[in-house]
Amino acid sequence: MAIEREKLEADVLIIGAGPAGLSCALHLANLIERHTKQNKSPALSAENIYVLEKGREIGSHQLSGAILDPSALGELVPGFEESAPLDTPVTVDAAYYFTETGARKLPFTPPPLRNHGNYVVSLNKLVKWLGGLVEKKGINLFTQFAGREPIYARDGIGGVITEDKGVDKNGRPKDNFTPGYELRAKVTVLAEGPRGSVAKELIGRLKLEGLNPQVYGIGIKELWEVQPGRSQTGYVAHTLGWPFGSHMYGGGWIYGLRDNRVSIGTVVGLEYKNPLFDPHEAFQRFKTHPFVKRILEGGKLVRYGAKTVPYGGWYSMPRPYFDGGLIIGDSASLLNSQRLKGIHTAIKSGMLAAETIYEALCASDTSAAKLAVYQQKIEQSWVKKELWAVRNFHQGFRHGLWRGLLYAGFQSVTGGRGLVDPLRTQPGYKDYRKLNRGQELVDQSGRFKGDGKLTFDRLTDVYHSGTRHDEDQPCHLRVIEPSICIERCIREYGNPCQYFCPAAVYEMATENGVPKLKINAANCVHCKTCDIADPYQVIQWVPPEGGGGPNYEGM
Ligand code: SF4
Repeated sequence: MAIEREKLEADVLIIGAGPAGLSCALHLANLIERHTKQNKSPALSAENIYVLEKGREIGSHQLSGAILDPSALGELVPGFEESAPLDTPVTVDAAYYFTETGARKLPFTPPPLRNHGNYVVSLNKLVKWLGGLVEKKGINLFTQFAGREPIYARDGIGGVITEDKGVDKNGRPKDNFTPGYELRAKVTVLAEGPRGSVAKELIGRLKLEGLNPQVYGIGIKELWEVQPGRSQTGYVAHTLGWPFGSHMYGGGWIYGLRDNRVSIGTVVGLEYKNPLFDPHEAFQRFKTHPFVKRILEGGKLVRYGAKTVPYGGWYSMPRPYFDGGLIIGDSASLLNSQRLKGIHTAIKSGMLAAETIYEALCASDTSAAKLAVYQQKIEQSWVKKELWAVRNFHQGFRHGLWRGLLYAGFQSVTGGRGLVDPLRTQPGYKDYRKLNRGQELVDQSGRFKGDGKLTFDRLTDVYHSGTRHDEDQPCHLRVIEPSICIERCIREYGNPCQYFCPAAVYEMATENGVPKLKINAANCVHCKTCDIADPYQVIQWVPPEGGGGPNYEGM
């Protein structure tokens, strides 16, 4: 039965209230304010900008390392230092190579990891602050709403349909059923972060893929309150080596925040070979390294989170414009994987998108030809300069750490060109080696449990992510061909979803002696790893009912 939906029309609809989406909204409102003061036509209003955020509050799904390069924020909000919640300026930089028990400090910190002039921030707090500035401009910010599916129009997008609310787990309407809205806009901006569900569909359907497929890493982070004297405010350390083998692309970080809090985490490329590798366990083991343990011992875990990171860079950038739409921030592959930074490029891309949209609205032309100016603006800005210099960086590590470092050396003296340009890559899930085992389930009894003080199992960590979903709703993790899991994946890969998911969502169980995939969707922290790393690409992450998911307060 066709659902009758309420229709709303806006000039601009932004999907996702992260740094990119909010910067786009704020900058556009500033341009409209100036336009109105100068009595220019056509009449434009910030009230015709809508922003959708699937989290229960602005910032609740925002997770990052997070070190902020303030260059773009200074352009967006001059004098931001006076009001932005910047936890602390970076005071000390260090880089280490870890073996299982040792830590060798590099004689100098490699330039990409130098952070003087940058800030350690809580992305959650920074985004909340930006959200406040956006609201003051009269922009309509809707929390607890996700863009569920694109509305196709011309050769692009004409808006989105938001998710239906009040549907039970069998797909039947409950007493509180509210159909999703049909939100139409002259320009729809996709700012969903890495592996956005609307962006994924659109990029595939409109064939917008870049030269290389997108490749990702998974970052896992905990926030700790440590004993006084164990950490230094503004201390920033990055590590290479253990617990990741030299055949993997991975590393760790330790950032000292104010009030004896420490941000600690690891990030590993989702292109490892062993399908039974467990990124969450690797992170827990990282904390047992003597160097890290010394800092954390006696402290307490405050918050946990996980998120994917787009590593592909310039050559994985999809065409970011089409009829009626633009792609910005992480969704557009604008993260600098060498510097491990994407907040500043996300902000800048949001601003460049805002300028493009403003010109398009003034010209009453939102066709792809007009919006193509966005790509030109990126190419003429420092964003291209920064990303072009590292365009082959991540691909160089496909065959291991040492070869990657060698490639990186050549790239640094050739302006990013290196030995081969462009260096091609393939989606990370294609790198799994087959196990070719029997038809029985992999025994889970020896899985890592943690000691409950320094190290934790995944469920304890999920508890600390503040994750909450209404359990009586359709599963937002769609397995398109469930028979593959029990007929092929068991044998070929040992069901890696049980390992790569950092929230213990996927569980292989038996029912009447027959293997069955159980999905604990309520645990999901929205990292999107399953959508990316499933070897058969049969898992599809779609937004659950708005307001569900983690609450990354202070992260
Ligand atoms: Fe991440 Fe998928 Fe697990 Fe959710 S179910 S936490 S998106 S891997």
